Amino acid sequence: MEAISVFDIFKIGVGPSSSHTMGPWRAAQKFLNVVQQRGKLSSVVRIVTELFGSLAKTGHGHGTDIAVMLALSGDDPVTCDTATIDHRIAAIKEANRIRLPGGAWGKSQSIDFHYDQDILFHIHAPPLPFHANGIRFTAHLTGGETISETYYSVGGGFVVQEGEHATGERAVKLPFHCNTGDDVLRHCRASGKTIPQIVFENERVWRSEADIRKGLLTIWRTMAECIYRGCHPPTDAMLPGGLNVARRGGVMNRKLTQGFGSSGIREYDDLDGWLDVVRHSTREFQQILKWVSTFALAVNEENAAFGRVVTAPTNGAAGVIPAVMMYYWCFCRSSEQGIIDFMLTSGEIGSLFKKGATISAAMGGCQAEIGVSSAMAAGGLTQVLGGTPGQVAMAAEIAMEHHLGMTCDPIAGLVQIPCIERNTMGAIKAITAANIALESDPDRARVSLDDVIKTMWETAQDMMGKYKETAEGGLAVNVSVSVSEC
Ligand code: SF4
Repeated sequence: MEAISVFDIFKIGVGPSSSHTMGPWRAAQKFLNVVQQRGKLSSVVRIVTELFGSLAKTGHGHGTDIAVMLALSGDDPVTCDTATIDHRIAAIKEANRIRLPGGAWGKSQSIDFHYDQDILFHIHAPPLPFHANGIRFTAHLTGGETISETYYSVGGGFVVQEGEHATGERAVKLPFHCNTGDDVLRHCRASGKTIPQIVFENERVWRSEADIRKGLLTIWRTMAECIYRGCHPPTDAMLPGGLNVARRGGVMNRKLTQGFGSSGIREYDDLDGWLDVVRHSTREFQQILKWVSTFALAVNEENAAFGRVVTAPTNGAAGVIPAVMMYYWCFCRSSEQGIIDFMLTSGEIGSLFKKGATISAAMGGCQAEIGVSSAMAAGGLTQVLGGTPGQVAMAAEIAMEHHLGMTCDPIAGLVQIPCIERNTMGAIKAITAANIALESDPDRARVSLDDVIKTMWETAQDMMGKYKETAEGGLAVNVSVSVSEC
């Protein structure tokens, strides 16, 4: 099986969806690269994008069209200015033109782009055979020639080109190759190392020690900044999309920080000052519970508003791991090394689910998103609270066991209801699972991590298609939303 780095699992990007926003964004970039490598970029007169399966059915709500337009304009999800996305998309639609990237590729050029004709949502066509998230690009060149490629967004921002095989980075030989939870535990027993230690050794195949540490701490900082922004939105106005979902991260943060200082709210003016306030909050159970929920809500409200988030392992579930990491950072005996160990451990657990089941809601429903993120967070937290490798695996198993069968039924195809609150539930379940595992003997567990991964995959295959990110079942059909609302 392929080798997956922790940096493949945790990727900095833009909301609201890893499979429907980030994946198509990367696919469009790859396609431009193909055209450029064939020396044909300057001959392009039109690019048509066709969306199939779940991408067609929920692509509007998940911003697939926006991601494609930004990618074709040369934007990158890691660096693009998220504050100007609305403005730039409106400008493309109004001008009916899009400017393809230049820079290292040569001179940028503006081509015709008619939104209704050049991004096609094939809602009634069957999905493409390989995966439920298919996307095809066709570049029309001067002289009538065309170049066409098909890609699949397979979850978590991962993209596969039709006919592609594992090469280069994916084909490397790792010192501790793991396809299953059993493999991980066997390596730990044989080497006497912890899970993050063996994952760190694997990562060294791709990066230096310094780069691994720096990269993981940058990702953690991005997660923390996302929580901070979500707790301090410019307004408490509704989230975009027309569903009239109110932001709650800012409201809850204000209530939780009340009662300090003369102004009634403890003074701070940046992320580090705010972290200090949170760390000095009262340690009552209910207070901590509210903080964890606020962290998760904040991230997923930012995600729904096309803000900068980190896939963990997906965007829809981007709040679970940051919320649990922030819980660890603010309310446990924490350290920078703990943050690194948390991410190495949870990243490996995410890889196991990707290899043995799926992290795509279009393939497995929400158990593949919130369920996997909760299992990852549970394992990471157990590690940094002193758990053994067996207890880490047990925590991940417990967290997933109680998400099995969870469907994906986003109302109006937006990543808002049930998605935003669902992240709070995933975070709380992860903390509970970690605490149960820390008090348990994993040798007496009756269900292994591999058992639950296999069960999740079989459940995914049995799940009806309408519950797999199509907005054709569950809450998406039982909650009446007028067309004008969305
Ligand atoms: S219901 Fe779950 S899987 Fe579906 S879009 Fe929302 S968070 Fe993602």
